Amino acid sequence: MNKRIDLHMHSLFSDGELLPSELARRAHVLGHDTIAITDHIDSSNVGVIPNLIHAIEDINDNWDINVLPGAEITHAPVEAIDKLARKARELGAKIVVVHGETLHEPVIEGTNSVAVNCADVDILAHPGLINKDDVEIAKKNDVALEISGRKGHSLTNGHVAKLGVEVGVNLVIDTDSHSPDDLITFQEAKLIGLGSGLTEREVMKALVESPKRIIKKRR
Ligand SMILES: [Zn+2]
Ligand SMILES: [Zn+2]
Repeated sequence: MNKRIDLHMHSLFSDGELLPSELARRAHVLGHDTIAITDHIDSSNVGVIPNLIHAIEDINDNWDINVLPGAEITHAPVEAIDKLARKARELGAKIVVVHGETLHEPVIEGTNSVAVNCADVDILAHPGLINKDDVEIAKKNDVALEISGRKGHSLTNGHVAKLGVEVGVNLVIDTDSHSPDDLITFQEAKLIGLGSGLTEREVMKALVESPKRIIKKRR
């Protein structure tokens, strides 16, 4: 059976409801193999990453689930995104996500473009109505685009899937979980992919190959 990999989740280290342990426990029960805890950061709190790394040591040492430390650069000035991504890496973040230009929030224009040009970024989350040029740059720089399981952010999943497949960029299907009810099974993630217009094969690539590639690259 395929195990779920979710590389975009929030804990109490930012605005998630759960401690890393409960998040990991619930993910494990729902059949996750790997999760990344990617709490929101900007310059004010990027220093939290070593605390997160410390917090997940016990989980990784004792439970049969792989928890990766990450960060989601969120609503930061576009001029600071590069610097923040580098800093997050230096502090040990394995998965660096940028909070993209979702239609659901007033994310500053230009965030998508900066994110796809940044070598330290792994995933551009919920990129809204991203344009084709940025999708091509994402492909060239090996930045994955997210199909989102989250209400509001998911409004443009069809657009992202269509352009993503056309250009051949890596797609991932992540939940952006903040609460216990946000976590989903592999089967539910598959339905989100199919609902976005991806074929069965494209969905499997987004659920298995693409996230594994990111994890391997940053190991
Ligand atoms: Zn949040
Ligand atoms: Zn998020």
